[in-house]
Amino acid sequence: MTQPLASWLKQRQKQLLQRWIALLEPEHVAAGSVSSSDEELREDGATVHPDEQRVMLDAIYSGFIHAANGSSDQLDKSLRLLRVFRNHGGEDELPRHLALIAQFRRISWDVLATEQATKDPDWYTRGVELDHIIEYATVKLSESWVSLAATTTRELLETRLLVESLTRDAEASDRTTLHVSTINEISRGLASTFDSASQIKIVGEKLLRALETASVAIWQSDLAAGCLRIVGRWEPSVQPDEMSIPDWIIRSDAADDLIACAFRTGEMQIDAHVSPEAQGPWYHEPFVVLAMPLISQASVQGVIVLQELNGQVLNARAEQEFIRSAASQAAIAFESARLYEEVRSFNAVLEQRIAERTHELQVERDTLETLNAIALEISSTLDEHLLMQHSLSAIARLVGAEHGSISLLERETEHLVDRAVLGRTEGVGYTRFPIGRGIIGWVAQQRRAVLAPDVAHDPRWVELPEDEEHGRKQRGGALIAVPLIAHHELQGVLVLSHDQVGFFNEEHQRLVEAAANQIATGIYNALIYQQLEQDLLRRYEMQQIQQQAVSQSQAILQSLSDGVIVCDSFGSVLTVNPAAERILERPIDELLIWNMPELFRRLLARRAEELPVEDLISEPRDAQGNPRFFSATIQIGTRVVSISLNPVLSNEKHTPMGALAVFRDITREVESDRLKTEFIGTVSHELRTPMTSIKGFTQLLVMGSLGPVNETQREFLGIIQTNAERMIAIINDLLDITKIETGTVELDLRSLHLAEALSNVVMELQPKIQERTHELSISIPPGLPLVRADQRRFNQILYNLLSNAVKYTHRGGQIALEAHEVTQDAVPEALREGLKPGRYVQIDIRDTGVGIAKDELERIFERFYRTENPLKVEAGGTGLGLSLVRPLVQLFGGRVWVESILGEGSTFCMVLPAI
Ligand code: ADP
Repeated sequence: MTQPLASWLKQRQKQLLQRWIALLEPEHVAAGSVSSSDEELREDGATVHPDEQRVMLDAIYSGFIHAANGSSDQLDKSLRLLRVFRNHGGEDELPRHLALIAQFRRISWDVLATEQATKDPDWYTRGVELDHIIEYATVKLSESWVSLAATTTRELLETRLLVESLTRDAEASDRTTLHVSTINEISRGLASTFDSASQIKIVGEKLLRALETASVAIWQSDLAAGCLRIVGRWEPSVQPDEMSIPDWIIRSDAADDLIACAFRTGEMQIDAHVSPEAQGPWYHEPFVVLAMPLISQASVQGVIVLQELNGQVLNARAEQEFIRSAASQAAIAFESARLYEEVRSFNAVLEQRIAERTHELQVERDTLETLNAIALEISSTLDEHLLMQHSLSAIARLVGAEHGSISLLERETEHLVDRAVLGRTEGVGYTRFPIGRGIIGWVAQQRRAVLAPDVAHDPRWVELPEDEEHGRKQRGGALIAVPLIAHHELQGVLVLSHDQVGFFNEEHQRLVEAAANQIATGIYNALIYQQLEQDLLRRYEMQQIQQQAVSQSQAILQSLSDGVIVCDSFGSVLTVNPAAERILERPIDELLIWNMPELFRRLLARRAEELPVEDLISEPRDAQGNPRFFSATIQIGTRVVSISLNPVLSNEKHTPMGALAVFRDITREVESDRLKTEFIGTVSHELRTPMTSIKGFTQLLVMGSLGPVNETQREFLGIIQTNAERMIAIINDLLDITKIETGTVELDLRSLHLAEALSNVVMELQPKIQERTHELSISIPPGLPLVRADQRRFNQILYNLLSNAVKYTHRGGQIALEAHEVTQDAVPEALREGLKPGRYVQIDIRDTGVGIAKDELERIFERFYRTENPLKVEAGGTGLGLSLVRPLVQLFGGRVWVESILGEGSTFCMVLPAI
């Protein structure tokens, strides 16, 4: 029975596989030695291990068995495994696989051949069967390879297409990169410079290089001219430096010109079919033209123009976008450059202005420094000559003057005399100009500066004679003369001159005027200082004299026997002399602590008002303007002190400065006065008795009662009688004075009628009046109040006053008596002290007699005082009458005073209290 192929294969599996693998191994071991390891690289990069190869052969062998059994699936699967034997190039895959199968066929036929030898009849059938399977496997491998090859071919095609597309993209990307880098370069280039020519160059060259068009040109607008002007042009064939810029201009409103159109619309213009006639000189036929406006901040500055023969580049959208962005970069940069240029030119102007101003300031500073130096000089010296010398040379230096002088006004003569001459320290004071004469005189008169370009042509110029001693005088040239005025007073004139005609300008004048103000002030100050110095010296001398006087007064005050206390206007005690301390029996310290009113309050107690210090200080003068005066007498222990209080008035203005009290110890005077009064009283009394006898007996003798008397005897007896009566009158007066002084006068005060009293007195005086042929008039108004007085004493008063008027009036005089009612205000202020307010009767006795000198008006009321007058001897008299009248009137509560003009007459006025 025939053994089926499948079982034959199973049977021979070990033998066949071993031989097949053995065939495989050396080849694959050798192949493995080529690789870095013993493994072969698979398609996916993995390695094929030898064991794995054995397993694959084993699997194919199993596939053969299954195929022998009629199922080819297993063989198909195992054959697909063979792909792992593909090298990564895959080129020798199919032949190697076919060789592998062919090897197996050879081995199998070898084994079948051995079986032929063993006479196995089926060996050939088996072989044919096996060949079928091998053929199947071969076909299968080929099919699989072909389909793989087809797939690979398709993939290859796809890959080629992919590569082509990638290449295209890469090219586009290269272009974009080129554009981007060009834009970058442009922007870097533009950023690196603000020079607009360089910027134009950068944009043009870069665009030409990037686009390789036939030409690139840049046009800029000239707004003022209303046109566009070419500013740069590039062509690939011409070196940029050799390319000349044509002198092309297009009007901005040229209707169909592409460039003008792009400029007007701000839109890119591209035209392949340009009408050449409508274009400006720039157009080259038959080029495609692209005009891209240069826009920055919404305004069109110019246009970039590119020309290309076929328009391949210019029509491409990407290229257009590139040109647009380059144009926008350029426009911004051009605008910046323009602004920068503006700023730079502005800066340049500014710098120039600064330089000019700096120069001006420099000049100003120099000027100020000089003025300052002058001011310093002026403030540092009060020597007028030095000051003038130094400031004159400083100001001359400042304005570059060659000659100069300062003339000062001599107030006594009204002449301007040169006091400082430039470059001369001596020999000044020779040139005199009256005010109004010459330029100097004119300046002084007008108080205005003069800027004379050439004095030779100035009508005011007065040429001085040649001064041999001090060199030449100016004959011509420029001159500045300015008045020196300080505190509105002209001090003098400053003159500066230069031989060169027109040398000085207004700036010089301004400087000189500025300096002149300072110099004038300096001179003024120096003069004031001199005055002050003299003043101080005078004051010092006066002070010395005063001090001497004060120390003299002090010495006098110290050595005075009268006490003196001086107070200020507030009553505070200022000075007390030792005599005051002694008289008042109080230590100086105590007296200094009190003020004067307080002192008088303590000394006078209730009578303090007799010495009203405050009143005196506030009103130191009476109505006539004479200093007021108060006095009082006080008792200190056993001593009598008289105090007199006077105001202290300043020398010049007679303003009250305080008060002065003088204390005199009059104890002895009072005592001797008392003794004298007593003595006079006693003597008078003792004299009156014998006088009465003399008078009485003389009267008897005259009457002839004691026997006849002859004429001579009668005459003598008459003289005796008259003298006796005079003596009795004197004695009576003395007795009255004594009574008044001792306060023992007895008064019988009652209401009296003036007319009544007067009639007695007038009757008594009538003979005398007649004898002296006087005219007496009496005027008593009706209703005149009665007066309050002692009748006898009132008669005595009236008699005294009227008899004085009769005595001291030359013969044939006029005597008038007038009475009227008044108030206390009618009494002179000096006498009003102590006068009670109320109604008074004033009696005025007026005569046309010899009159009384002003300084004697008060003295006649003193005892025994008689004035020197022509009627003194004829009138006779003792000088006691008025000294009785005044105290008696005062005892009645009235006052008496006299008004008189020497040689013209007197009026004795008396007021008595009215009832
Ligand atoms: P007597 O008249 O006795 O001298 P009086 O005291 O009356 O003394 O007067 C004093 C002096 O005053 C007089 O000596 C005289 O110088 C002056 N006198 C008085 N009354 C008048 C008068 N009416 N006119 C001029 N001088 C007068």
